[in-house]
Amino acid sequence: MTVDLPAPAVAAGAATQVCVRHGQPATRQKKVIFRSYTPKWAYLLILIGVLPFAIVAAALQKRVKAPSWPFCQDCGRLRTRRFLIGVGLLALAIVGAVAASVLLPANDSTGGPIVLVFVLMVIAGLGVASTAAYGPIASGYVSNDGNTVHIRRAHERFAEQAAAIRAGAPQPYQPYPPTAPQQYAPYPHSAAPVPTHQQPEQPYRDR
Ligand SMILES: [Zn+2]
Repeated sequence: MTVDLPAPAVAAGAATQVCVRHGQPATRQKKVIFRSYTPKWAYLLILIGVLPFAIVAAALQKRVKAPSWPFCQDCGRLRTRRFLIGVGLLALAIVGAVAASVLLPANDSTGGPIVLVFVLMVIAGLGVASTAAYGPIASGYVSNDGNTVHIRRAHERFAEQAAAIRAGAPQPYQPYPPTAPQQYAPYPHSAAPVPTHQQPEQPYRDR
């Protein structure tokens, strides 16, 4: 599910006690910068040139800096896994390229496609490694008006605590699910004397 949080609250340090993805208690808090997506129309500017596009995209980008965003141990493991896959792809591409340059004759016709494969592996490796950053792990993005941080793939425990942020309430840790029995407030005391209750006569049932 996607959970929406007010951007000012996130920037002010409002955060949950559990991580987004797993809903587990946070073992570390990290600074995360959430960004907005470039609006689709801006890509038309690439037709004019990459530089105008880059300038407009940078000018339009909304950023929300969360000073201490929660991550759990599983988030850390996910980070490590993505990083290792990315680095592994890069290493494979380099080793493969070196091996191909040694083994293949210089004017071999398969050289072009092989280079393309290695270039794609490098791009894929960098792409995977970049998702190991804390921002992608938190999987949030800012709305184009900059007022809202949308959190994708939110765990229901995160969603519950996020609702409290939306309500502007302080963030006590709420165990989930609430198991404490409901306490009823005592009847409000009133100065007026309580009228004596007339018990209707109970019909006595003698077997
Ligand atoms: Zn987690």
